[in-house]
Amino acid sequence: MASKLAAECIFCKIIRGEIPSFKIHETAHSFAFFDIGPLSEGHALVIPKHHAEKMHELPDEFLADAMPVAKKIALALGADNYNILQNNGRLAHQEVPHVHFHVIPKPNEEEGLT
Ligand code: 5GP
Ligand code: ZN
Repeated sequence: MASKLAAECIFCKIIRGEIPSFKIHETAHSFAFFDIGPLSEGHALVIPKHHAEKMHELPDEFLADAMPVAKKIALALGADNYNILQNNGRLAHQEVPHVHFHVIPKPNEEEGLT
């Protein structure tokens, strides 16, 4: 069952290279790429290389690997103000049923954006 879900999952397809993405970084357990519909410049997604729909279903080693990757991205983007967002379930606005962490930089006020 899990393998059927992984076969059809768009984020698993991105990890396998079957759907193109703008890759930012990759580790043994995580894959990071830019969001296709960015909420701000640099909006990135960090996903575990393990198909799980929700965070509490994810093995700890994949969970533990994701945050350092998010940290690297925040540092690389020079984002001093940013949100880390992670939605679980339809009622919590999860659209893609594969765990993902958003890294959403907040533009600088002097750029005229809020
Ligand atoms: P959610 O609402 O599930 O937390 O967020 C899913 C995110 O995945 C959205 O921000 C959406 O723009 C992004 N997304 C959905 N499909 C694709 C895709 O095929 N490629 C990329 N790069 N991002 C995607
Ligand atoms: Zn998946």
